[in-house]
Amino acid sequence: MTSFRPGPDDALLVVDVQNDFVSGSLAVPGGAEAIAPLNAAMAAFAAAGRPIVLSRDWHPADHRSFVQQGGPWPPHCVEG
Ligand SMILES: [Zn+2]
Repeated sequence: MTSFRPGPDDALLVVDVQNDFVSGSLAVPGGAEAIAPLNAAMAAFAAAGRPIVLSRDWHPADHRSFVQQGGPWPPHCVEG
């Protein structure tokens, strides 16, 4: 694993790293392999006192993007 040293103007944005995208209904092939490097990057940013911002996908159970409502996606990242 490559080490990374955050600079004084760096921030880390971690987008939608959630179970449904790793091992759930919308799993990304190889997604689990990203967890350890992400954890290492987050540790490096935390140690450097640099900002870490995390987003998460989130839907109500009856979201219109789900196949049951005519959308293209299986239910994923459902509230609660
Ligand atoms: Zn979604």
